[in-house]
Amino acid sequence: MIVISKKERRDFCIQCRRLTGYLLQKKDIVRNIRDREYPFNITVAICTECGEEMSIPGLIDKNVQEIDEQYRAVAGLVSPVDIERLMKLYRIEKVPLSLALGFGEMTIPRYMEGQVPSRENSDVIRSALSSPSHMKQKLMENRELLTETAFRKAFAVAVS
Ligand SMILES: [Zn+2]
Repeated sequence: MIVISKKERRDFCIQCRRLTGYLLQKKDIVRNIRDREYPFNITVAICTECGEEMSIPGLIDKNVQEIDEQYRAVAGLVSPVDIERLMKLYRIEKVPLSLALGFGEMTIPRYMEGQVPSRENSDVIRSALSSPSHMKQKLMENRELLTETAFRKAFAVAVS
């Protein structure tokens, strides 16, 4: 944890080649962890004179901690691989699957492109994947949103 009073907010800037003031700001970054891209929001120090990022003692440790905490919040969520399994299992395409699960029609396509699902939606996908009766219930709930063919194909798997 970095504790900085106003007076202490100076450090050596390698761009300016001298001690300069800096501001701590939040920055959005994307890190690839096990072939999947995750968004993180980390703290960086910006030189008030040249605007470049500065390396401040303790900041790397803080970033590691920030990334670790944020990763743990999303790590248990379903991945595109899980969704693909569900699509294959129920012989259903991305958009109909999205509708069948009660999501907006672009929700599953976005997850397939790497967007991290909400915890709630992730739980719905996981339940559908692990329980045919849950999938059957979802299909019946949203039957009117699906084409007859898509519904029948998926329903046949859910009740088999
Ligand atoms: Zn500088």
